[in-house]
Amino acid sequence: MPFLKSVLKQYDLVIDKLELPDGVRERLRHPKRSLVVSIPIEMDSGAIKVYKGYRVQHDITLGPSKGGIRYHPNVNLEEVTALAMLMSWKCALMQLPYGGAKGGVCCNPAVMTLKEKERLTRRFTSEIIWAIGPEEDIPAPDMNTNMQTMAWMMDTYSMLKGHTSLGVVTGKPLVLGGSLGREEGTGRGVFYMVGEAAKIMGKELKGLTVAVQGFGNVGSTAARLLFEQGSNVTAVSNSKGGIYNKNGIDIESLIQHVSENKAIADFPNVEIITNEELLTIDCDVLIPASIEGQITRYNADKVKARMIVEGANGPTTPEADRILCDRGVSVIPDILANSGGVVISYFEWVQDLQFYFWKENEIQQRLKAIMTDIFSSVLSMSQEKKIDMRMAAWILGISRISEAQELRGLYP
Ligand code: NAD
Repeated sequence: MPFLKSVLKQYDLVIDKLELPDGVRERLRHPKRSLVVSIPIEMDSGAIKVYKGYRVQHDITLGPSKGGIRYHPNVNLEEVTALAMLMSWKCALMQLPYGGAKGGVCCNPAVMTLKEKERLTRRFTSEIIWAIGPEEDIPAPDMNTNMQTMAWMMDTYSMLKGHTSLGVVTGKPLVLGGSLGREEGTGRGVFYMVGEAAKIMGKELKGLTVAVQGFGNVGSTAARLLFEQGSNVTAVSNSKGGIYNKNGIDIESLIQHVSENKAIADFPNVEIITNEELLTIDCDVLIPASIEGQITRYNADKVKARMIVEGANGPTTPEADRILCDRGVSVIPDILANSGGVVISYFEWVQDLQFYFWKENEIQQRLKAIMTDIFSSVLSMSQEKKIDMRMAAWILGISRISEAQELRGLYP
């Protein structure tokens, strides 16, 4: 099922459970603004290539919109719209003063040089400049974009405005107003949520068996923090496939191995597995941390993990959710489990606006407090109403936006 269709299906399921004022269902079903831009750039060869870029602002009832920028060959308007919608629910659930947005460029960064990526980022930023800003819409990194991409965006925006604007993007390098802890924020949040999952199962992090799909920013950080606490990370994968060792993989050495540009398949003392096999490995916790649509009606009945903690956005389809729920597999949903990134982005933005920066332990403590607090609200609602945690999280997020919409009224 296409990703947007699957997100709208989940939306309808949630709205059916809520008693909302007339019109709310329709208003939140559609993005407020969708911007599609052409990005012509000169390649190093001298040839001119035109890329397609997107920025979708789904809802801005609670504040400026917030969401990452993705560079990937599959980026399209529908995917960006679905991700923007998820950002609205995520920001509302986490009680941040933000609406939801998402952006991306359809390109293959793996075959582009650094200079080509810089020209792409700068031209993309100038094409969407009227839509972004510290009080309008604040981009951040997502798949295949990073601190350097954010530094170029911030510089382009600042040059065109004639003054340095720290708060226009988050996920920046520290020296440009970035926040301590931002780069590992999403993975750290996933790690905190695995801690909560372990408590539900009556287990300790030490000895917990974990499989991680996607060994990028989110997956590798969560895996490393779990490894440091003595969890047995038995399987990890990336887009090329996975590796498995029933006694646990030395994640610190694997991170070092990958940083030397070596394939994970060449890591010693492991069996080679496919991504499909990774998803069905017998373990306590499965962390999908790659892309959407990985756990579907075709493989959900084969998942052997006791709990799933969603690092990626939208890794489980609504059909798979139903199958997992019937089989007693609990899912800590993306909008809660991977919210560490946007929560620390919020901290970064607050620090930028105040020109006053916090210590790392303060940031980690605040992140943990917010995430565990919202986790207990989601868990309580799911237990009281006998619904799964995704439904509970969406209800909490959407109700908050709907309450704010009602108070603001409908313009004009
Ligand atoms: P990344 O680019 O750093 O890493 C992605 C990883 O997934 C890589 O290891 C890649 O090889 C792997 N991958 C890609 N396609 C795959 C496939 N078909 N099967 C298996 N593995 C595959 O990206 P990231 O920042 O770690 O983001 C991962 C997910 O987390 C995305 O869904 C993203 O939207 C979500 N997310 C990221 C952040 C953040 O702060 N980075 C915040 C919230 C959510």
